[in-house]
Amino acid sequence: MTLFPGMVEPVLGASMLGRARTRGLVDIRVVNLRDYAEGRHRITDDYQFGGGGGMVLKPEPLFAAVDALRTPGARAILMDPRGRTFTQAVAAELARETHLILLAGRYEGVDARVSERLADDSISIGDYVLTGGELPALVVTDAVARLLPGVLGAEGATERESFASGLLEPPQYTRPEEFRGARVPAVLRSGDHARIARWRRVQALWVTWRTRPELLKGAHLTSDERQVVERFERGETPEQID
Ligand code: SAM
Repeated sequence: MTLFPGMVEPVLGASMLGRARTRGLVDIRVVNLRDYAEGRHRITDDYQFGGGGGMVLKPEPLFAAVDALRTPGARAILMDPRGRTFTQAVAAELARETHLILLAGRYEGVDARVSERLADDSISIGDYVLTGGELPALVVTDAVARLLPGVLGAEGATERESFASGLLEPPQYTRPEEFRGARVPAVLRSGDHARIARWRRVQALWVTWRTRPELLKGAHLTSDERQVVERFERGETPEQID
């Protein structure tokens, strides 16, 4: 639900999302909040009580729209920088729902009664402030839709992806084998599936350890993998680990 349908429609019609919608794998509707505003001018914002600059999105259009469109079991989610942080785990949780209603705020924010009385959940896509909830709603839609059965097709392996196993994804290469002097690691061309799997796991541990070490705390690591991390901590690199 948005005051700017034109901002989200092109994204929802393109690429994977567009194809998933055409194939009936996901049903996404864009609701213009102004259609639910009352009065001749269909006003959706107003000054905030208590003073202070900036307009606030009025509650009535949001309540009217959600009341009209809510199905049994639907979950209404307000896009809000103060909400719980969106992660791959939250995306997986939302992918199990049957109907999500994503509410995009605007202006200085949304009348507090929407989060108190209407929304079942509030989600933030990160610790920064955007001008509206349209981009956050698209982020959530994209991350959730690609987890639905059939959306990625056969080629879309999600199990090795970043965050799926609690780690970041290992490096990936395609042809050519050599590009500007940089060669694809020989192990990936060896055809030895066990060695390739081991190399990928060590690389995933390395990338995660270097850039997002806090993720390792929540990852399910074998004792062997814990030892690999300890070797990184002692100054060793993946090349020194078989
Ligand atoms: N005054 C608000 C505050 O300080 O928390 C920010 C309002 S923001 C300018 C307008 C709308 O954009 C919000 O109501 C929300 O819907 C959306 N928005 C902005 N940043 C967001 C984020 N990081 N995650 C989710 N929604 C966001």
